[in-house]
Amino acid sequence: MSDIQIDCAFDSGNILVLSTEGASARLALRKDHMSDFKQWFHFRVSGAAGRELELKITDLNTSAYPGGWIDYDACVSEDRAYWGRARSTFDVNEDGGTLTISYASGSDIAYFAYFAPYSMERHHDLIAESAQCEGVSYRRLGTTLDGQPIDCLEMGEGKKEVWLYARQHPGETQAEWWMEGALECLTDPADPVGRILRRKCRLHIVPNCNPDGSRRGHLRTNAVGVNLNREWDKPSAEKSPEVLCIRNAMDESGVDFSIDVHGDEAIPAAFLAGFEGISGLKDRQQADYLRYQAILDRRTPDFQTVLGYGITAPGKAKLTMSTTQLAQRFGCCSMTLEMPFKDNCNLRDQAQGWSPERCKLLARDCLAALAEWLEG
Ligand code: ZN
Repeated sequence: MSDIQIDCAFDSGNILVLSTEGASARLALRKDHMSDFKQWFHFRVSGAAGRELELKITDLNTSAYPGGWIDYDACVSEDRAYWGRARSTFDVNEDGGTLTISYASGSDIAYFAYFAPYSMERHHDLIAESAQCEGVSYRRLGTTLDGQPIDCLEMGEGKKEVWLYARQHPGETQAEWWMEGALECLTDPADPVGRILRRKCRLHIVPNCNPDGSRRGHLRTNAVGVNLNREWDKPSAEKSPEVLCIRNAMDESGVDFSIDVHGDEAIPAAFLAGFEGISGLKDRQQADYLRYQAILDRRTPDFQTVLGYGITAPGKAKLTMSTTQLAQRFGCCSMTLEMPFKDNCNLRDQAQGWSPERCKLLARDCLAALAEWLEG
């Protein structure tokens, strides 16, 4: 039988093929352009039908989050619609740290990715479909270094200025699946949560803050290797035009409440991170954040407050990150939402792990929590 073939010259593709032999391949990750980050992968295997694939991604001890590979199963799809998991094992001592993915393919073609991809074509479908909904207006906030638009959807007649933005880190595709769920809720004329939020809020939604990194198959940076979530104190047209145009639009509207949506490589749970370390922290602001977190925790078993990041000491917050910058700049209730690449360890799904479907369900719970929070 001939060797399998491996391709990645498509939207968000990323893999280096070191060798193939029969149904096995030795692979490595390509770094984000002009940076040392690597973790995202997305590639296609053909010639796969009826064979036991063994795909080894090597040199992972130098990846951005080596802890991300422990207890992690790679995402796989034969039809690019349903994403399941392929049994994977990580050996820290093999070939500089190797993830071995095993998969028996029913089809001649199988796609593998770090998490279910969210393509720029799907992004444009999401923007166009949302923009034509009743009461939704579209704003083009600016242009990336590769010449792509930064898209913003706006809706609602209320006074509370709410900003939802995602995918500053392009390899965290969970974030845009979350956005798809949020927009389905907010643009549905019958959805009670959407109706309440549109009545009480003015919503500004940026489903993808980093289209260049997304298309290029990056984990964490834009076209020139810049981590956008370290640019919020002084964004520049040269290095981070994405952040500059979003922050300028926020300065125009003001911000009362915001969620920055991400994925976390290592922690097997969804959680929030706040802004405790900012110098201008107000008691009311911190209480608002904790109240939102408690509401969300009560609403869904796919969210929890035990696992997460440590609390930053008073006055020690870096204002380079959006959540702390917005909390300091506007005195608002801002937060970073993290979803797992692995699974919710308290409610495992053997077939899919954490999935696009669960990202979308969590988005609706986040919005329902916001509607409840606004009553308090
Ligand atoms: Zn992130």
